[in-house]
Amino acid sequence: MKKTLRLILGDQLNERHSWFSEVNKDVVYVMMEMRQETDYVTHHIQKVTAFFSAMRAFSTEMKSKGHDFIYLRINDDGNEQSLIKNIKKIISEYSFEHFEYLLPDEYRLDEQLKELCEEISISTQAVDTEHFLTKRSDIAEFFKGKKQFLMENFYRKMRRDHDILMNGKDPMGEKWNFDHDNRNKYKGEVPIPPAYSYKTDVSEVIKDIEDAKIETIGSMDKDNFHWPINRKQALQFARYFCRELLPYFGTYQDAMHTEEKFLFHSRISFALNSKLISPKELVEKVIEAWEEDKEKINIAQVEGYIRQVIGWREYMRGIYWAKMPDYAELNYFGHDRKLPDFYWTGKTNMKCMEKSIKQSLSESYAHHIQRLMVTGNFALLNMTDPAEVDKWYLGIYIDAIEWVEITNTRGMSQFADGGIVGSKPYLSSANYMHKMSNYCSNCHYDHKKKTGDKACPFNSLYWNFYNTHRDKLEKNQRVAMMYRTWDKKSNEEKNELLTQADYYLNHVDDL
Ligand code: FAD
Repeated sequence: MKKTLRLILGDQLNERHSWFSEVNKDVVYVMMEMRQETDYVTHHIQKVTAFFSAMRAFSTEMKSKGHDFIYLRINDDGNEQSLIKNIKKIISEYSFEHFEYLLPDEYRLDEQLKELCEEISISTQAVDTEHFLTKRSDIAEFFKGKKQFLMENFYRKMRRDHDILMNGKDPMGEKWNFDHDNRNKYKGEVPIPPAYSYKTDVSEVIKDIEDAKIETIGSMDKDNFHWPINRKQALQFARYFCRELLPYFGTYQDAMHTEEKFLFHSRISFALNSKLISPKELVEKVIEAWEEDKEKINIAQVEGYIRQVIGWREYMRGIYWAKMPDYAELNYFGHDRKLPDFYWTGKTNMKCMEKSIKQSLSESYAHHIQRLMVTGNFALLNMTDPAEVDKWYLGIYIDAIEWVEITNTRGMSQFADGGIVGSKPYLSSANYMHKMSNYCSNCHYDHKKKTGDKACPFNSLYWNFYNTHRDKLEKNQRVAMMYRTWDKKSNEEKNELLTQADYYLNHVDDL
């Protein structure tokens, strides 16, 4: 009789985990597709498809290597659709004597599993996923006693601790951060290599999702499912990125373009977050590519990319574990407006919003600056309830898992944490949009106009935001200058701006 049951969640697809270093005849692994996961928020159709496809591919691969698996598909008879109910049932049906699980990255699942372990009578153990470079508690320890958790300090520590891009104690290239070199607008100077893609057959998964009547958002080209869903594909994606896209990654990292959805971004976040590939091996590949051809790839590109993976990504995870569950309730500005309807359709005259939202709906993807400075920026200017904003981000993106979604959305983008992640709100008027993209040149609104007919909504809403939240922001050194500029404006100009903003807020669904 098999003795041990080991649980693998849908985002724990780490083939290189030590659990799999040998076949153990006493062990059975269990994976399950469940309504509790498909329904806690309305997900994008490509996201559900990607997770189910990757989970199925993982169990098939592991079975072929001799590991024993129980796999519950979404429509299987006997699937209780709940993690706790399924595990209890399997333990009693097969009389397992021991239960092990990989530490979940979500607070919700962590709590459920702790509860389960208290309820069952057999011995249990939680095991590390062997994916991240840091432990859950590292950030909390590093920033003990600090109100603000400065990412840059943590990032430097990561570089030192893991000896990445270091010359002894000093950073390679004599700078820790090349962000200032990475702020170009894309004007077509360099051709963008075609998006790497697969045509994985996902028809069976889609049929199962349809049969189960799972509610989803967004669309997909069923014959052209291009996300990597197994380790081999993830590695190929990473190699393609290093060869073709890395040489310009940093330069155009913040750029946005009406005709280019992906620019030089790696689109590796689903593969990373589902653990098909690890941050360590991704960084190794990037450094290898750079060392092979330093003429083609300069250090600004490499540093810019590595900062995202060993800096921001690990940092966000640490913040999550340091601050949950309270973090999910934070609402520093007390915002309570609903998310405008066009977030679900892309039907708006603001070109930047139309492009970013329509792309999110069709691709389940937008790059960082589209998420932060377009849709996130507008949600903040609209003074939207952060819970609504979270729900949208958590549902729509292929890579959205709460630990990395909520810290980016509620923290970085909405400043709902009052400044744990960011030192000031990420806000901009049309000026930034025009500087970093070609959106404004094709827009119904005039990016130069602040008031009057066709004035870009970002402009008056920007000043309205600062005016509304003066009590909360005025003392912040990083935004104090905005108030000096505001105070220099005549009362007439101020009134015009605020009246315009008021009109836009009252007619936001028509923008
Ligand atoms: P690239 O631009 O090629 O970057 C490489 C990798 O760096 C990414 O795959 C990602 O793993 C990591 N990375 C970059 N920026 C961040 C960041 N701020 N936080 C954590 N990791 C980062 N990322 C998610 O993985 N899941 C989310 O749910 C998510 N929600 C976001 C919500 C908002 C409002 C914002 C502003 C950002 C969010 N991000 C999220 C971060 C970032 O936008 C995505 O990781 C990135 O766009 C994924 O595309 P890529 O793989 O092409 O990234």
